[in-house]
Amino acid sequence: MARKHHELTHKRRERLADFVVPFRVKPGARVTLSKDFDPAFDGGLRHKREGEALLAEGVELLAEYQARLAAQDTWGVLVVLQALDAAGKDGTIRHVMSGVNPQGVAVHSFKVPSAEELDHDYLWRYARRLPARGGIAIFNRSHYEEVLVVRVHPENLERQKLPKASRQRGVWKRRYREINDWERYLSDNGIRIVKLFLNLSKEEQRRRFLRRIDLPDHNWKFSSADVAERKHWDDYQKAFSEALSHTSTEWAPWYVIPADRKWYARIAAAAVLVNTLMEIDPRFPTVDKQRREELLKVKATLEAQAPAGAAADPFAQDSGRDDSDGRAQRRDSEQPAPVSAKSAVD
Ligand code: ATP
Ligand code: MG
Repeated sequence: MARKHHELTHKRRERLADFVVPFRVKPGARVTLSKDFDPAFDGGLRHKREGEALLAEGVELLAEYQARLAAQDTWGVLVVLQALDAAGKDGTIRHVMSGVNPQGVAVHSFKVPSAEELDHDYLWRYARRLPARGGIAIFNRSHYEEVLVVRVHPENLERQKLPKASRQRGVWKRRYREINDWERYLSDNGIRIVKLFLNLSKEEQRRRFLRRIDLPDHNWKFSSADVAERKHWDDYQKAFSEALSHTSTEWAPWYVIPADRKWYARIAAAAVLVNTLMEIDPRFPTVDKQRREELLKVKATLEAQAPAGAAADPFAQDSGRDDSDGRAQRRDSEQPAPVSAKSAVD
């Protein structure tokens, strides 16, 4: 039984690893977004209904692995989410994380830096929001803005009050190196980093902006600034291509998620996250022999206290039902929140 389960898990792991390979940016590869990645890719699934079961499976696995990650308390996971406007960052976070215990996940959104933030080194505000061991942090925009929007609009760099030598030629190459070094330090010390770029096409962005105008309930989402930013589309594509080329590393790889179909982007994002957690393979801690013997002594005491007519141990039949994941040993309070597959695709 345990063995069969183990084989299934192994197969699932291989299947998932194969699924995410096309999205991964190979370390050292030179990326040209327009040439190398298709925003409309849908893996031959064609219809979102075919994807619903897949997403539900991903969401469920994520909840399962998040519980183990928290129990093991060794690794933290940092999910970096970058995209152009209307690519679906918010919806991706909402759907992919829908089954996860809210206590185990923190989402941080990074906007235009405050005066206090500009008074510090550029990684300061991101370092303050890193996950603790056992936790998952999602950066909704991230330190990558420092080589994206800051590069496309150099006046942002002016505002950073850097010494002259730090803002001269070579600043972007240097920042790539610094980011890689920082991420390496983090991964060497138990913070796993996985980076997702939601890759939207220019035409799909136009359609989504129009939809925000056409549907009154969506008007609040529409921002004229986003349309202005669209004028810099080519500069952003270039800045993203460069960043992906220089900062996809063995220790913190980038994944380019096709984002023209929201439902597919969610499946792909969930798959990448589950795959990362499976690589970490966190385990529920087990107790040593001595502690186990102590527990059995306490058990005997509790059994002796059973009132007349009550079973000494009402769970006696269940206790052999363990599987290799140790799931049966989890207390009820540690069960992940129920998975909502119905709302997974809108
Ligand atoms: P949404 O629009 O869905 O609420 P958002 O992430 O677009 O989410 P906004 O408040 O619209 O949030 O935009 C945040 C803005 O902050 C973006 O234009 C982004 O480029 C900008 N920004 C983020 N980090 C930096 C930075 N380090 N320097 C300058 N601008 C930044
Ligand atoms: Mg915005």
